[in-house]
Parts: sequence; C-alpha cells; structure tokens
Amino acid sequence: MLYEVVILSTKRIVIVGGGAAGLALASKLGRKWGGSDVVDVCLIDKSPIHIWKPKLHEVAVGVIDQSIEGLLYRDHGLKNGYRYIRGEIEQCDPDTKSIQLATVYNDDGELLLAPRQINYDILVLALGGVSNSFNTLGADEHCIFLDNLENANLFHHKLLDALLQLNETQERVSIGIVGAGATGVELAAELHHVIESVKEYGYLNIAKHHLEVHLIEASSKILPQLPERVSARAQAVLDKIGIRLHIGVQVKEVTHEGFITQDGDVIKAGLKVWAAGVKGPKAFENFTKLPITSRNQIEVDTCMRVKGHQDIYALGDCALLMQDSGRPVPPRAQAAAQMADTLFGNIVNRLQDKPEKAFIYKDYGSLVSLSRFSAVGNLMGNLRSGDFFVEGHIARLMYISLYQRHLASLYGWFSAVVYRIAQKLLKWQRPKLKLH
Ligand SMILES: Cc1cc2nc3c(=O)[nH]c(=O)nc-3n(C[C@H](O)[C@H](O)[C@H](O)COP(=O)(O)OP(=O)(O)OC[C@H]3O[C@@H](n4cnc5c(N)ncnc54)[C@H](O)[C@@H]3O)c2cc1C
Repeated sequence: MLYEVVILSTKRIVIVGGGAAGLALASKLGRKWGGSDVVDVCLIDKSPIHIWKPKLHEVAVGVIDQSIEGLLYRDHGLKNGYRYIRGEIEQCDPDTKSIQLATVYNDDGELLLAPRQINYDILVLALGGVSNSFNTLGADEHCIFLDNLENANLFHHKLLDALLQLNETQERVSIGIVGAGATGVELAAELHHVIESVKEYGYLNIAKHHLEVHLIEASSKILPQLPERVSARAQAVLDKIGIRLHIGVQVKEVTHEGFITQDGDVIKAGLKVWAAGVKGPKAFENFTKLPITSRNQIEVDTCMRVKGHQDIYALGDCALLMQDSGRPVPPRAQAAAQMADTLFGNIVNRLQDKPEKAFIYKDYGSLVSLSRFSAVGNLMGNLRSGDFFVEGHIARLMYISLYQRHLASLYGWFSAVVYRIAQKLLKWQRPKLKLH
C-alpha cells in the first residue's frame, strides 16, 4: 500500500519580551497551537519571572511579594503551549531571519552561555520601554529607574535599610521622585501607606512625619496626560497625606544629595527615583537594519508590522504606531493588551492566508491607584457623553479589574479567578508588608 507522505513545515514564531503584550500573545498562540506541528511558539525574556509592570511600584514598597504574584515563564510555558528561553536580545538580522542573544555570565563573572543565535519565521518584538532621563546630568548614576523587577527589588532593599536606620535614629528619611505621572503618583501614595503600617511590625519609633516624599513634575499639573479633574482630585489626596509636590519644576542635575532644579534650588533626597518619560529599549540601538526612532522605538504600520519588514512585528511600549489622529498609541497597559489581541488574530489570519486587520486603539480611560487612600480616574463614555470621572471604591474596583483582565489573558477567565483567590488566601497568611 502506498502512503502519501505529507511534510509539514513548522512555522517558528519567536516573541521577544514577555510583558503585558508579549506574554499575552505567547499564551494565546501557545494555547491555540501548542504541541502541534503547525506552529512552534517560543518566548524569550531576560528575566525568569513576570510581574505585571503596573505593579512594580507595589513590589518596590513591599506591598506585594514576587514569590506570590510572580509568574514563572518556564512553568507557565509548559502549561500554555509555548517554549520559554531565557536570554537578552542584543542583535536582529532580518537578512538571515535570526536574532542573537547576549552572553550569559554567573554572579562571579564566569561565562555560562556563549552568545546564541535563534532563527525565526515570524519575529515579534515586545521589549517594552524604559524611563527617559533626557540625559539629565547624574540621573543614571544616582536614580533608580522603576522599569523592571530588579530595580523594584533594589528600591525595596534600600527602603528597608532606611527604615531600619530610621527606627534607631529617628532622623528623617527623604525620598525624591521625578515625574508625577501614574508611576510617580502611585509610588508616592504607597510610600505613605507603608510608613503608616510598619509600626505593626515592631518599628515602634517610626512616625509619619519621619518620611518626606518629594514628587517633582515639570508640567503645570500632576498626571499631565489625564483630565484636569482627575489631576486636581489626585493632588488633593496627595496634599492631604503630606506628599511634598513640586509642580512646574524641572530637574537640571541629580547629585548624591538630591535634585538641583533649573532655578538652582536643591531638593534633598536620600533615595531617588526617576519615573518620567518613556523611550524604547537600549537593545534597539544595535538594530541598525530596522527603522528605529530617535527615542529608540521601532516604527510599525497599522498592522503592527515593522516598516519594510514582512516577517517582523512589534507591539507595546517599544513600538511607534501612529493613529489616524496623528498621535502615537500611548505607552499603556491597556494599549499593550489590545495590541496583543489584534496581533494574535492577524498571525492566525496570516497562517491561514487571510488578510490582516489594522489595529485601532480604543481608550477606555485611565485609573490611578492612591494606595489605600483612594483611586481616581476617568472612564470613556460614548461620543455624546464624553468621559466621566470616577473615584473611591468604584475606581479602586475598576483598577483591580484591569489586573484581573491581564491574568485572564494569561490563564483564561476561570483559572484567573481561582488563581486570584489562591493569591489572596496566601497573602492572608503572610505579613501585609514584605520585610526582607
Ligand atoms: C511602575 C509602573 C506603573 C504603571 N502603571 C500603569 C497603569 O496604571 N496603567 C497603565 O495602563 N500603564 C501603566 N504602566 C505602563 C505599562 O506598564 C506599560 O505600558 C506596559 O507594561 C507595556 O507593555 P509591554 O509588553 O510593551 O512592555 P513590558 O510590560 O515592559 O514588558 C517588556 C518585557 O520585555 C523584557 N525585555 C526587555 N528588554 C529585553 C531584552 N533585551 N531581551 C529580552 N527581554 C527583554 C522585559 O523583561 C519585560 O518582560 C506602568 C508602568 C510602570 C513602570
């Protein structure tokens, strides 16, 4: 008997960056095709653990613990049909359809892995963005940039050291944050919550007035991207809890002592955080064959395809996608999630020889958490009613639901709810603050 031999050619989809966008995409593709001969989905990230980026400030102050909230790519990949490779991309060559991962050393500086080359049929770049110091003198040297888990942990350790010292000496601790966008505002509010909570854990000599948080913003209001009413309300809450706001103040230089402003004033701060501006990842500086902008983002067309490159896509904060309005899609978690949904559909269509769809960003509004003190935001209504203001418990619930939606994209709705309940139960058994 004669059999017809069918040779299946497996398409290798390589996604680099397992954040809000890349991990959601890898999970969807893996669940659709994992284990099949059609597609091999491979996710590369430099970190072994995923924490949803909007939660990094909570890691930094110790309100959440990465050992509970963190997702291990290797385990998640196994259960969701994609392969995880740990590595840091440093080069991309569209001519050979390959990327290169950097050399890996251990903590003693010994070579663990030589540079690796990975070939792809379809490449998706989802490396996220980093804060932009705009080359401010001393910023890179003296500030912590809350862009990744490593830095959030670094801040956390420095904060614990400062609290330990403060409990003994009662000498004021001052923390300076540059940038009163969502990250800066949320971090400032969480810090006040922490200082209120540490007494429960034996830091008996620490009182609220021992902590001075300076929030420095160059624009004329905090949360400059959000409507006036949201900014005003958030400012009122921050004023009430004693955050020192420096609005319309531009930082010229950062030194060991603190921040020097354009007017020559000095804002003293022991711990300094830079949470202003967004630019693309440093790795893009090496991608000379791809269209990289002066802010290190990669230019994509409306289908998220890198301009001039049929087999490379980019999404999330690292991509520059211009909307019909002439404005770029903003670097936000909801945009990253929506892009992942559209690109998933487009990759499925592409592999079935169907046309791809243009991405249309839908702004559902913004929510800012002010720790246990409140949450504020604006939600987009229909065209006639415009946006409307939300505050308090409703805003807080909506803020939490954003994270729940992210979990659902990673686990499916049912598992996401079970996972969240399990997390809550674990938390209930543990200290409210991570004190190590
Ligand atoms: C503290 C903070 C709070 C925020 N709060 C909000 C909020 O409330 N609402 C909101 O909408 N947005 C918020 N944002 C913005 C939001 O987090 C981002 O827009 C969103 O995470 C972008 O998703 P992404 O997938 O593009 O990138 P990311 O989520 O940043 O993921 C990028 C991934 O790429 C990996 N990576 C980076 N470089 C390399 C490399 N060279 N090689 C391999 N892997 C690499 C990283 O490890 C990471 O896993 C916040 C951001 C921060 C920092």
